[in-house]
Amino acid sequence: MAWVAIGFLASFVSWAQLGFAWGLVAVLAVLVAFQLCEFVEFSRWAKRPLKRPAAHLVWSRDALRIGQSIRGARARTRRFAGVLRQMQRTADAIPDGLVVVRGAGEIEYFNQGACTLLGLLQSDRGKNLFALIRDPDVQALQAGVGEALVEIDSPVDIGMRIEMRRVKLEADRDIVIARDVTERNRLLTLRRDFVANISHELRTPLTVILGYLESLTEEKLGKAQRKAAIAKLERPARRMQALAEDLLTLTNLESSPHPDDSKVVGVVVDHVLQGVVEEAHNLSKGKHDISLTSDATLVVEGVSEELYSAFHNLVINAVRYSPDGGRIRVRWMRRAEGAVFEVEDEGVGIAAEHLSRLTERFYRVDFHSARVRGGTGLGLAIVKHVLRRHGSVLNVESTPGEGSRFWCVLPHLGMPNSQQALSELR
Ligand code: ADP
Repeated sequence: MAWVAIGFLASFVSWAQLGFAWGLVAVLAVLVAFQLCEFVEFSRWAKRPLKRPAAHLVWSRDALRIGQSIRGARARTRRFAGVLRQMQRTADAIPDGLVVVRGAGEIEYFNQGACTLLGLLQSDRGKNLFALIRDPDVQALQAGVGEALVEIDSPVDIGMRIEMRRVKLEADRDIVIARDVTERNRLLTLRRDFVANISHELRTPLTVILGYLESLTEEKLGKAQRKAAIAKLERPARRMQALAEDLLTLTNLESSPHPDDSKVVGVVVDHVLQGVVEEAHNLSKGKHDISLTSDATLVVEGVSEELYSAFHNLVINAVRYSPDGGRIRVRWMRRAEGAVFEVEDEGVGIAAEHLSRLTERFYRVDFHSARVRGGTGLGLAIVKHVLRRHGSVLNVESTPGEGSRFWCVLPHLGMPNSQQALSELR
């Protein structure tokens, strides 16, 4: 400001000294110089418009306003970018694939799920989605009729099934949603197989029962024949009962990965095994050589009835699948890795290709022989679940024609310090 005043003073002096014309020239020169300086100052400020403009600047008010509006626009852009990033993160967190397509299928946007399920790459933006996924079923989606829905093999993972749906967004933009339905399909198949198996298991004993019931209605049947027919009803009826009981047990076991706390106690497995082996003797009727070697001091934490059911299934199987005279060894012993239960037989054995499937519900190596031997096909599935609930897994070793060894390792409570502790558990 000071030099402006000096300028005007100089012009006034020149006007007084040199006359009107030169004075006017001097005033104009001062004005131009002043505007030039202002312009230089303004353009310096314009390079960093968020800084406060110099106070002497004639345009400082406007500059301040411009600065404020730039600051506001910047804040809005930052907020908008934040929201956009958040939306992107949200879309990426969705496990389903989302692809926004324009027109005939030109990819506009896709999330991380689409990369995982459909194998899309950043360089695929702008390409045609339906040309990238070479599956004939996808053509139905390209036609884009209504909310078309197709199921295809994932282009990324051979074992994965993907369900794709096309949903309208706007006149020229659609969203294609891809979802991994492998697990859903597996469960549906399991359910379908389960229902088919149950129906199959029930049909045989029911047919037998109905047959005998029909013969019982015949009037000319003698008393002895009638009695024999009634006795024949028992076996299929018991079979259906065993099936219902095993199914119930399995359903209860499957409902939770851990046993109910109130039922967990210190189980003296030796006691459990005495009962199991006694039942094995009853079933064998002296036709097998059954022995038990057991450490009476080994105690595990668990549910006594469940452990009984698991060990019972394994030992009874050994009897069922062993020829007369076969040796069956049941052992319960302490090892470095924990308490080991094992049952070894010299029975029919199992071929290697069946071993991994033995614990599936209703899986049998030889369906006919297993049925004749009286099993429900659920025994080893029950064993698997009981052991899982007790922190263990079932192991099998077998040689066809020579025999099998089923075993598991259970975490144990350690040797009780005194006989008193043991007797309290008993
Ligand atoms: P099942 O009631 O049919 O015995 P499990 O679930 O107990 O059903 O066993 C499944 C299948 O495993 C049996 O059908 C049988 O083929 C085979 N298996 C089980 N235990 C033995 C064993 N000790 N020796 C030979 N095969 C066995």
